[in-house]
Amino acid sequence: MDILIVGAGPSGLTVANVLAAYGVPFRIVDAKPGPVSQSRAAIVHVRTLELFDRLGLAGEARRRGLPITHAELYENGRRGAEVPLAGRDGGPIALGQDETERLLVERLAERGHAVEWNTTLTTFGGSRWVVGADGASSQVRRAMGVGFAGRTYEQTGLLADVRLDTRLKPGRLRLNLTRGGFVGMLPLGESRYRLFGAVPRDLAAPGPDGRVSHDPYAEVSLEQLQRWFDTFFAVRARLVGADWTALFRVHSRMAERFRAGDTFLVGDAAHIHSPAGGQGMNLGIGDAVNLGWKLAMVARGEAGEQLLDSYEAERMPVARKVLNGADRGFALEATGQPVAAWLRAHVAGRLLGPLSHLPPVREAIARMFSQTWISYRDSPVVGGSRHGALRPGDRAPLGMAPADLRHHLVVSPGAHVDAPFEIHEHPAAGRLAYLVRPDGHLAYIGPPASVPTDPDRVG
Ligand SMILES: Cc1cc2nc3c(=O)[nH]c(=O)nc-3n(C[C@H](O)[C@H](O)[C@H](O)COP(=O)(O)OP(=O)(O)OC[C@H]3O[C@@H](n4cnc5c(N)ncnc54)[C@H](O)[C@@H]3O)c2cc1C
Repeated sequence: MDILIVGAGPSGLTVANVLAAYGVPFRIVDAKPGPVSQSRAAIVHVRTLELFDRLGLAGEARRRGLPITHAELYENGRRGAEVPLAGRDGGPIALGQDETERLLVERLAERGHAVEWNTTLTTFGGSRWVVGADGASSQVRRAMGVGFAGRTYEQTGLLADVRLDTRLKPGRLRLNLTRGGFVGMLPLGESRYRLFGAVPRDLAAPGPDGRVSHDPYAEVSLEQLQRWFDTFFAVRARLVGADWTALFRVHSRMAERFRAGDTFLVGDAAHIHSPAGGQGMNLGIGDAVNLGWKLAMVARGEAGEQLLDSYEAERMPVARKVLNGADRGFALEATGQPVAAWLRAHVAGRLLGPLSHLPPVREAIARMFSQTWISYRDSPVVGGSRHGALRPGDRAPLGMAPADLRHHLVVSPGAHVDAPFEIHEHPAAGRLAYLVRPDGHLAYIGPPASVPTDPDRVG
């Protein structure tokens, strides 16, 4: 088989789904017996839903998930502001990673592909291309000899899926800034909520050696959770059960390369960071779609190998930006430093209140929870000229048909263009032609007569 995908988490499964949509053969293996059973990454961002739409999955994801319409910001329990998250492009949804993975596995099965579960790979030769989607301790990355530089924070974070004896207003992501930490609640349906945030050292249970466990699967008792909840969440409610808890140490690390020869890294194998803002899985799915369509076109002989160079060129800057943003978010969320803690509790909240009424600030918060800011303006495979605020590499503002991974060319009615793409006529195109890639980014803006005909020769 020409393409081997190592790892069937959200990133590997998405690469597989894109290849399957193009009819390109591949093998996908995973050491586990099946999809994860925990909810782990519980927010699916707007940009990810747009990418899922290209795979014909967004409708089903929205049916299975819960819409998150607003972020509510509190300061020590006092309501500061409410920011709408569902804009023009729809809003994010709460959907457990277990459900997201199942959805991807089911779609793959519909296209006649199965994951080889219970299959651990230790050597990766024998395939033309290898996709390392094997998570944070990636063996593929080690075999490539690529470093994973960064840092691990001292602070401990906690995730818990709990049931409350009350129901709060639906569709609200609730964030509370307090002196002891920045915590959040995400509704998961009925009276179930995902609680997240930093925990003070004394709250996490010390093990027999007197140290707090940082095993990602470490359990926390309901009593401890209630204490954390009462101290930081400023919501009067009792926790009546916990379905899943995870204490974790936050890492911020990025692979030095996302490609070495014919081997590529996607998802957690390429970058890990704080779960603040729920970016991790979404970032991995973005990597997977970016690499997937390029690999498919090269494997089908429809594009030259140089198209594959653009994967690293486009995705490394995006990962770097998310890592920096998550670092800042986590520093605010978790710092134990007294001045910073005071600022967080007494200044950040007060500033957020008035600021969040300004339209650009509201837009910025909504964009942070949507990943719609991602653009590839500096990519070697986008070209042409800017038009107004729009530049080649930007996310195309035009809707496309679902389950469609073709290149689309938009020109004004009557323009004569000879190009091997799906051609659409739209009066708004004016004298320009807009070439939209399978991942919804603009590959080219310019005169119809100069539209590139090879996806790898646009830049
Ligand atoms: C406890 C926990 C809580 C989390 N909570 C959140 C959250 O709230 N929000 C958020 O955004 N993110 C969260 N994350 C992170 C999120 O789960 C990851 O970002 C996401 O799963 C990355 O997907 P991936 O496909 O890149 O990697 P993974 O999901 O890690 O998948 C890698 C796969 O590769 C397989 N594998 C590894 N080595 C081999 C091998 N040699 N051979 C075969 N298979 C192999 C593994 O079995 C695994 O299935 C959490 C992670 C954990 C562990």
